[in-house]
Amino acid sequence: MAIDLWDDDGSFGGIGQEFEPDWLFTDTQKGLRADLIELCRTTLRPNAFESDDGYIFPRKNFQALAELGMLGLNVPEALGGRGENHVATALVVETIARYGCPSTAMCYVMHSAAVAAAMLRHHGNDTLCDLMGRLDKECLVGTLSLSDPATGSHVWFLMSSSAEKDGDGFKLNKKASWTTSGGYADWYVAQTTSPDFNGDYANFSTWLVMDDEVNANPGSWDGMGLRGNQSGPIEITDLQVPANRLIGPVGDGSTSNDEATDPFFLFGTASCWNGIALGMLDITRRHTTRKKHIDVGLRVCDYATIQDYVGHAIMTTNSSRMMTYSTCRQMDETTGNCDWSIHSDPEALPRSELVPWSWAAKYMAAGNVTAVSDKMLHACGGTAYKAGLGMERLLRDAKAGWVMAPTNEVIRNFMGRAGLLGFEALDLWNQTVDQRAIDNEVKKMSAEEKRALAERLLAD
Ligand SMILES: Cc1cc2nc3c(=O)[nH]c(=O)nc-3n(C[C@H](O)[C@H](O)[C@H](O)COP(=O)(O)OP(=O)(O)OC[C@H]3O[C@@H](n4cnc5c(N)ncnc54)[C@H](O)[C@@H]3O)c2cc1C
Repeated sequence: MAIDLWDDDGSFGGIGQEFEPDWLFTDTQKGLRADLIELCRTTLRPNAFESDDGYIFPRKNFQALAELGMLGLNVPEALGGRGENHVATALVVETIARYGCPSTAMCYVMHSAAVAAAMLRHHGNDTLCDLMGRLDKECLVGTLSLSDPATGSHVWFLMSSSAEKDGDGFKLNKKASWTTSGGYADWYVAQTTSPDFNGDYANFSTWLVMDDEVNANPGSWDGMGLRGNQSGPIEITDLQVPANRLIGPVGDGSTSNDEATDPFFLFGTASCWNGIALGMLDITRRHTTRKKHIDVGLRVCDYATIQDYVGHAIMTTNSSRMMTYSTCRQMDETTGNCDWSIHSDPEALPRSELVPWSWAAKYMAAGNVTAVSDKMLHACGGTAYKAGLGMERLLRDAKAGWVMAPTNEVIRNFMGRAGLLGFEALDLWNQTVDQRAIDNEVKKMSAEEKRALAERLLAD
């Protein structure tokens, strides 16, 4: 069992409240954070050790979160939720990851992104409204299923899926290589190419699929970290669904991603990585202020080297948090605090304009937690290398940040390409011909090779 962050008298051993950007939060949100910290102390954190040891999906933590009304955090009060905004979502994820359980935080991120996809297009869809109203009462955990085995981290490119019209409804097929909470979630937001697909992979659609409609292999997840998040493969085979399982219009996949799933996934995962970085700092403070070197009469925290590590990590982590919270705040501004009714006009897509900022928030947070988790391990020495201090688990959890799609390699390439050549140069669905490359290659050919190429093209 790792050390706890709290003493028997309830005092917290981590980094102090003076490093919290409290001016960002409403009084209600600060109250929510206090309730969550207490829930983490009593329930979520003890369960985190169990999830990590046994690769156990954190269902118990979700039940506790549902009792606090967290599953409907962004669902309007009229539908039985808390009607909270983007800043609150980031705060909840960060708090769960920091004080409680990063696996639970990651599953919660995927749940929030799935709720966002449903809320974006809930207008006139009774099935979605009914589901949104039951999230907390019945502890209904949702998740996103995008990743395709054929395209790896290019999760927007769905090659192993299809949908076709089937009477009044549709028939769906899909293979997903990774799905957080796969086999444990109660409902899935899944994407396939559209029923009118004609070779254009930019034409894809979003569906609601229930737990008993997917083939999963629960318990097959063997990731290095985030062991409770159970991101296993799932398959949907010849599934007949009624028409109201289509979320939004046919072909809405890309719009749904830009306006709902991507923003919530990106600022959500950024908050998860920021929370882990803070959790690392907390353990470092608690450990280094207690560990003494009797020979020189100093605690580890008394060395300037250790103070430098911690000072740097506090500032880079808070910079990353500000990037995330600032992006969330702008989403709050432009959506009337996450008022989903603005989307009764299907053209209202304010979050989509912030996608580059959401990418940057994920990139900065994943990069920061990689560096901070490494340095905090150094600051706590060999003791941190052992599981008992709790850092080893957080270090493994943190490693997911960089490799989760969009990977940090992909994000920085997107940003560079967009910055230099414009967003159209991203060519997400591999549709734009690179005339410059063709001309350059043809230039290298002999007359005979050109003739052979021309003949091959004509034969095609
Ligand atoms: C803990 C965890 C949970 C996950 N949960 C989910 C989930 O709930 N739902 C879901 O849909 N997916 C999920 N994923 C999958 C994830 O989003 C990625 O799809 C997956 O990590 C990609 O792995 P890969 O081995 O296919 O990478 P590859 O695509 O093979 O990438 C290998 C390397 O190539 C680089 N690379 C790839 N494309 C480019 C490019 N265009 N430019 C430059 N470099 C490139 C990558 O950055 C990486 O360094 C999860 C992953 C993890 C680790």
